[in-house]
Amino acid sequence: MRKDDCIFCKIANGEIPSKTLYEDDSFRIILDLGPAARGHALILPKEHAENLYELPEDTATAAFMLAKKMASRLKDRLRCDGLNVVQNNGEAAGQTVFHFHIHLIPRYQKDGQHIGWKPGKPSSEELEEIRAQIVD
Ligand code: AMP
Ligand code: ZN
Repeated sequence: MRKDDCIFCKIANGEIPSKTLYEDDSFRIILDLGPAARGHALILPKEHAENLYELPEDTATAAFMLAKKMASRLKDRLRCDGLNVVQNNGEAAGQTVFHFHIHLIPRYQKDGQHIGWKPGKPSSEELEEIRAQIVD
């Protein structure tokens, strides 16, 4: 299903123009309008899903396959030094557009960007408690 008021539904389905790098029946890959670095791309499914939790498994499989293929293409064509794959779910994780998308961010030495986190220092007991909460 497509969602009427969703900007990425409109872009993915060609109702709003975009700088398209790739398109097939199920996906469009576009250049991000507010790029973190040169060549920052977004993989958009044409069907609306708000986030990874809602994304059908077959679409997830295809989306990450496309991420792999386009990552190689970006590396070859843009000659980037590195590349981040980022996928945000929920406001707390930095999601601002609530239509699932994968960021492919080519990285260059000294591009001045920082995508990361401040490492914590959990004890072994804390790690065990977390492991148990997830697994048991
Ligand atoms: P996120 O914060 O993970 O939801 O990412 C949303 C991304 O979409 C940001 O990197 C924005 O720069 C980008 N963005 C928002 N609107 C547009 C648009 N109309 N065309 C291209 N990229 C967009
Ligand atoms: Zn949508």
